[in-house]
Amino acid sequence: MIRTRFPPSPTGFLHVGGLRTALYNYLYARKHGGKFVFRIEDTDRARAVPGATENLIETLQWAGLDYDEGPYIQSQRTDLYKKYADELLKLGAAYQCFCTAERLEKMRNEQEAHKLAPKYDRHCLKLPAAEKEKLIAAQTPFVIRQKIPASGEVAWNDLVRGDVTFQCETIDDQILLKSDGFPTYHLANVVDDHLMEITHVIRGEEWLSSTPKHILLYRALGWKQPEFGHLPLLLNKDRTKLSKRQGDVAVEDYRKKGYLPEAVINFIALLGWHPGGDETNEIFSLVELIEKFSIEKVHKGGAIFDLEKLDWMNWQWRRRKFEAQQGDHEEKLLKLCDEFLPTEWKTNKEFLKRCLRTVEEKILQRPSETKQYIEFYFKESFDVPVDLIANPKMKVDLSTAKTALSGVIEALESFEKFDNQEALKTHLLEVVAKLGLKNGQVFWPTRVALTGEQFSPGVFEVLWALGKEMAIERLKKALKNL
Ligand code: GLU
Repeated sequence: MIRTRFPPSPTGFLHVGGLRTALYNYLYARKHGGKFVFRIEDTDRARAVPGATENLIETLQWAGLDYDEGPYIQSQRTDLYKKYADELLKLGAAYQCFCTAERLEKMRNEQEAHKLAPKYDRHCLKLPAAEKEKLIAAQTPFVIRQKIPASGEVAWNDLVRGDVTFQCETIDDQILLKSDGFPTYHLANVVDDHLMEITHVIRGEEWLSSTPKHILLYRALGWKQPEFGHLPLLLNKDRTKLSKRQGDVAVEDYRKKGYLPEAVINFIALLGWHPGGDETNEIFSLVELIEKFSIEKVHKGGAIFDLEKLDWMNWQWRRRKFEAQQGDHEEKLLKLCDEFLPTEWKTNKEFLKRCLRTVEEKILQRPSETKQYIEFYFKESFDVPVDLIANPKMKVDLSTAKTALSGVIEALESFEKFDNQEALKTHLLEVVAKLGLKNGQVFWPTRVALTGEQFSPGVFEVLWALGKEMAIERLKKALKNL
């Protein structure tokens, strides 16, 4: 059975890259009828952040990624890691290292001065047995280090990157168990992946250089190694590594901003992966993603984190969810923003519903802003700023505005089909022709006179929403003030 895992360290909020890793592991397990295991890797006590574990759990829940097992907490399993560290010592695949922090620092400085890659110099591997015993007897603190073979190579066929090879001589003798008895990531991760029978390790590219160390541990302990797949980095639009400086990186931030989990999951799934087929089809639910997911189709190159696309997807998902609800369209719209509207606006429901229709797209995106979007409909009176109505760009001066408004008023007074936007349009286009003006020269002053706003829904929508009486009244008032 396929078993995947998501093992974050509780060092802060869940990063969008972390969510993608979780998602791919989740999709892979679900697709193959396997299990998705959740584990908290909290053995680095210095980096643990209070509340981070709870936040990780909540964020996964919000995203809809339910796990089958866990969370397993590594800090509650330290005896296990100690046991395997001892076993590695016995097997000769690890050794005690008594080096002091000062000695290691000196060593590192020297390596740096000689432009050498930082790497433990194996001082303690070469310690004579007698000396080692003396140090142990004196209770000198020590760490346990992995003994990497002096030569040879470690290779594997990566699920994403294909063949990957590391030369042993480039690999550091990693610390496995610290002097306080806590394991490092490498030991705890391998022990747990083995004990939890993980078959597929899918993780970020930043762990690529850890994998040969892990493979050597599997080999030393005689364990079957899982398959490995390393996901490409997430990039900013300028192809630099995704960073806080260029926008939000915590899933939490998007959640707080009101992005729908469906949209975030959809967006994240397509960062470096697409099911193939019609490339323009980009809207997938979690169920569809499970059905279509394949790790082989994950791209090798970095994936660009494009916020505009996320906004677009969020919009698509709001629409979808809205349409999927039962009930009358306008009632649904009203329900969405009801709590944000003043009660006195609700006395004329039919009028309110028409107003809402004209700003529907905006409401779907930000229901809480509805009041602001339709405020102009409810103003008893407002002054139409002369310098707004006269618009040189539209070739509208004061006298054109006057001509346009009186022409429109006259034409509307004898017009009855206000409930039909198309008919309104045809009718007013005739006015434009009759006055010998351009569309904008008539529609701009009309719309501004009706709304008092620089930006608003289009003129025919506004006329339709206001209805004949109110529309003509507003137009007349504006004309008088010009
Ligand atoms: N604890 C590691 C992290 O924080 C897990 C990496 C892995 O998947 O092996 O991402």
